[in-house]
Amino acid sequence: MAERLKSQFLEEEKIVDLVVGPDAYKDLPNLLSEVEEGRDAINVILSKDETYGDISPVRLMSNGITALVSITRGCDNMCTFCVVPFTRGRERSREPQSIMNEIQDLWSKGFKEITLLGQNVDSYLWYGGGLKKDFENATEMQKATAVDFDQLLEMVAVGFPKMRIRFSTSNPQDMHESILHVIAKYPNICKHIHLPVQSGSNRILKEMNRLHTREEYMTLIDKIRSIIPDGAISQDMISGFPTETEEDHQDTLSLMEYVKYNFGYMYSYSERPGTLAGRKMEDDVPETTKARRLQEIVDLQQKHAWLRSEEFIGKTVEVLVEKVSKKSTEEFSGRNSQSITVVFPKENYKIGDFVNVKITSCTSGTLKGEAVGYSNMN
Ligand code: SF4
Repeated sequence: MAERLKSQFLEEEKIVDLVVGPDAYKDLPNLLSEVEEGRDAINVILSKDETYGDISPVRLMSNGITALVSITRGCDNMCTFCVVPFTRGRERSREPQSIMNEIQDLWSKGFKEITLLGQNVDSYLWYGGGLKKDFENATEMQKATAVDFDQLLEMVAVGFPKMRIRFSTSNPQDMHESILHVIAKYPNICKHIHLPVQSGSNRILKEMNRLHTREEYMTLIDKIRSIIPDGAISQDMISGFPTETEEDHQDTLSLMEYVKYNFGYMYSYSERPGTLAGRKMEDDVPETTKARRLQEIVDLQQKHAWLRSEEFIGKTVEVLVEKVSKKSTEEFSGRNSQSITVVFPKENYKIGDFVNVKITSCTSGTLKGEAVGYSNMN
């Protein structure tokens, strides 16, 4: 917003005195002085090394149980529909010790689950600071002591064995087999991979500048299934990207049939100003066609979510209790390792407990069951 709309806010509409980009918070005292002296102030420069590593977030709306921990900022991928590389800058990773310190602080405050967060977590690489793209110019010492995502995830899993660990988001071309073995090895790393693909058509993937093919994505899915057999996979999908034909759309549906995702986040394409697609591609798929294709994607996802949910019936899953169920005050709601919502009668359990729940029924998005005891994560 700050980057894209700075002149509109400051000059045209004159509705603000101060525009601060996401990486400019350390400049706030100077900027405020400018404003106090009657001048408009602006700093939207994106940093090469700012990772907010020494900032302790104020966790508004926190449930006190689950928390997000940022590990990277920015993205180097340049998907043609995406505004992130322009608004968040190039990719840089946060110092591992500051990540561990933040998790330690959360643990001491009673949090039970963290999600390591970044636009492309599998690409995490700490070598002493700076942009990921500059790693090739790092010193031999920096290269020898660099920490990648496999190592970071293992450090967190070993350092906090009673803390549940999630991560998001993964990018198919950066998710290597080694990370799958780390996920499989540690019971406290959740068995859920959010793996956006956006389209099942190779032609559209190329137009989107996604750096993988449909076949490479399917090979990765096969690897996930063989290394983490009980893992859940979720998707992001866009319908109606510029030039998308009916055949491209059918490729998306057939890829979904291949994977049978547990759940997903589905959108119809809308142009983002400043992106390559926004500047160079005509938004030429009619809105009615986009909407119809999106509905077909959503309907298919709904069908697969049912199939995946039914697979849990009769099984016992470990649930971290997060809150009282919205539908009944007599029930708790939490998620299992696969990030599926589970609802069960409260009994004497409390929020923050890890409870083993035997699943007896389901809907497409929720599992229902009965508690059978505490899990050994408590
Ligand atoms: S869609 Fe994701 S991977 Fe692609 S540029 Fe945006 S943030 Fe990066």
